[in-house]
Amino acid sequence: MIIEVDRLDVRYGATRALRDVSFELAEGEVVALIGANGAGKSSLLRALAGLETPRGGTIRLFGQDIGHAPAHEVARKGLRLVAEGRQLFTDLTVGENLWMGGYASPFDREEQQAQLERVFGLFPILREFTGRAAGMLSGGQQQMVAIGRALMGGPRALLLDEPSLGLAPKYVAQILEVICELAATGITVLLAEQNAAAALRAADRGIVLSNGTITHTSSAQELLDDEDVSRHYLGVGTAEDADSVVAPRQLPCALDRLEV
Ligand code: ATP
Repeated sequence: MIIEVDRLDVRYGATRALRDVSFELAEGEVVALIGANGAGKSSLLRALAGLETPRGGTIRLFGQDIGHAPAHEVARKGLRLVAEGRQLFTDLTVGENLWMGGYASPFDREEQQAQLERVFGLFPILREFTGRAAGMLSGGQQQMVAIGRALMGGPRALLLDEPSLGLAPKYVAQILEVICELAATGITVLLAEQNAAAALRAADRGIVLSNGTITHTSSAQELLDDEDVSRHYLGVGTAEDADSVVAPRQLPCALDRLEV
């Protein structure tokens, strides 16, 4: 297992954001983390990334306890967070933002250059815009920069917090497609999304969080077929409604993963 979380507990003062959360992520697996506003999705990703100190429980990365490791050390070990809102340096160029991602990485300059080529391979538009201020890009292109910056560190696991928030549907489909491509290369992806129907189209499995605890862990297909989950968490009533958010044909990887 790449990541093993056992009875994780995260609190903000009197607010208990996560209670007794346990799960595992395997190599190359895409797992959608779904739940309503305030369910604890961001808290979970931030705790995994070393940005929140757990009150209890353990987080293991490749079998090593990282529950109290600082964020830069977690990043260096191969676990990278793409935070909600993208957090780019908007006055710096796309190229400068990407190079920044190589910072807490084990790579030398030559290896970082190779990573940069890989990022351009996934998001060709970024090569075109490399000298442009990141703040001038559209939301979807900025999300590509944010993911590209995380990839510059050569992660083994990526944590994505609401990557589709506010994006045009064509960008949502493109980003989910890239997530599938990354998984095919062995990178593990934990994808927190309000747009759960779309996330489950790209995922192998889904974890549902409610009030800081896990209520369901199942294959993506089972969650998409579950009426209760559909009604409460997908914001849609039926699989056809989910198709209207991201149709399987827009996302070829879904064809491999789901019965569509
Ligand atoms: P959203 O989709 O709205 O971001 P979420 O599922 O990511 O929601 P979290 O942001 O993890 O949920 O929040 C979980 C709980 O912890 C909520 O009750 C929230 O109000 C609380 N919380 C989150 N961050 C803090 C903080 N810095 N200080 C105090 N309480 C917080």
